[in-house]
Amino acid sequence: MVYDLNVKRPAWREEEEFVLFADAANAFVADNLVPNIEKYEKQGVVDRDIWLKAGEYGLLVPDCPEEYGGVGGDFRHDAILIDAIHGQGVDSWGAVLHNGIVAPYVTAFGTEEQKRAWMPKLISGEYVAAIAMTEPGAGSDLQGMKTTAIKQGNQYVINGSKTFITNGGTANFIILAAKTDPSEGAKGISLFAIETDGLEGFRRGRKLDKVGLKGQDTAELFFDDMKVPASALLGTEEGKGFYQLMDKLPQERLIIALQAMAMIENILGQTIDYVKERKAFGRRIMDFQNTRFKLAECKSQATMAKVFCDHCTDELVAGRLSAEMASMAKYMLSDLQCKIVDECVQLHGGYGYMNEYPVARAWRDARVQRIYGGTNEIMKLLIARGL
Ligand SMILES: Cc1cc2nc3c(=O)[nH]c(=O)nc-3n(C[C@H](O)[C@H](O)[C@H](O)COP(=O)(O)OP(=O)(O)OC[C@H]3O[C@@H](n4cnc5c(N)ncnc54)[C@H](O)[C@@H]3O)c2cc1C
Repeated sequence: MVYDLNVKRPAWREEEEFVLFADAANAFVADNLVPNIEKYEKQGVVDRDIWLKAGEYGLLVPDCPEEYGGVGGDFRHDAILIDAIHGQGVDSWGAVLHNGIVAPYVTAFGTEEQKRAWMPKLISGEYVAAIAMTEPGAGSDLQGMKTTAIKQGNQYVINGSKTFITNGGTANFIILAAKTDPSEGAKGISLFAIETDGLEGFRRGRKLDKVGLKGQDTAELFFDDMKVPASALLGTEEGKGFYQLMDKLPQERLIIALQAMAMIENILGQTIDYVKERKAFGRRIMDFQNTRFKLAECKSQATMAKVFCDHCTDELVAGRLSAEMASMAKYMLSDLQCKIVDECVQLHGGYGYMNEYPVARAWRDARVQRIYGGTNEIMKLLIARGL
């Protein structure tokens, strides 16, 4: 149960459009995902039809403009969906990445033709999206990537590999970063939209065995002389990929912060309920001063974080969220998530270490938030640049 931090929320949250969207998102997650959390953990991926069903419910790419088949929403819809998914303890469904991290590359940088071809399929769930930047030898240092896309006539020949790709086992639409000019660093990188169905030279590797996020299909991808049409280049010009990534990464980082916030509220709620029920030495765990102090600290930090998350969301919607501010949100919120969830495990005692308790799963899931989307060390480098 999500703990209500009782923070005054932005006025738009009361508007009918957003209230209705929140109701639909909450109901969809409660009916379709929550009952299957353990099943998805065991199979390491959500059922494929969840994507199509979510498309029918209007939950995929709600911020897509109407001319490309969308409903013309904005990032606030993504923020609501994050609350619905992560606030209910679901960690398996990569819809937020599909909606808020991959699709925006197409709407922001795609040509008219590309948007008309791809957006309707991303909205219906016919396409499941992934973004492939990281390589075995290049994570933080993206400029060092080795995957190449060399133009030959009216096609590109792509060779290389990617790793740790979220939705990688399922995705049939992948934004891929590759070097069109291997002699260059950032200036040599271009983005491609790869439609993988029946694509020769495209191969998925093993589904990776992770510490947490067990229901997410994180995979390796391989490209062996994979030929794609020249029209797969996102936009019209080679060499723009790094700048396109830099433009969109602040949104990815805010998404990670909002996920952390929703998970914190969920686990705080679960923990407060638990300590009010459980007894030791003839008293409720809640009645020990240590418990009250720890939860008071968690609540204070979470309340401040929530205000900051709402501020950053509004800044992003207004087109003002800086890379620096997004980095602060990502690093501060993911650190706080790990800290609070760890305290909550402690307050559950031995039960907090049992996989059947949501707090245990939340603890396993939290750790990676400090690593992906740019590690928290890289966030601090970005913040320090503005000092
Ligand atoms: C579950 C999961 C899902 C992911 N999903 C995706 C995805 O969908 N798409 C995708 O492209 N990638 C994805 N990633 C990859 C993720 O973004 C990278 O793992 C991350 O950026 C770090 O890169 P790395 O693993 O190569 O670590 P490295 O870059 O090797 O870093 C190792 C350590 O060195 C530190 N370090 C590196 N450079 C510096 C520096 N200059 N100063 C100080 N410290 C430094 C890092 O902070 C880290 O602590 C995912 C990863 C995981 C685990």
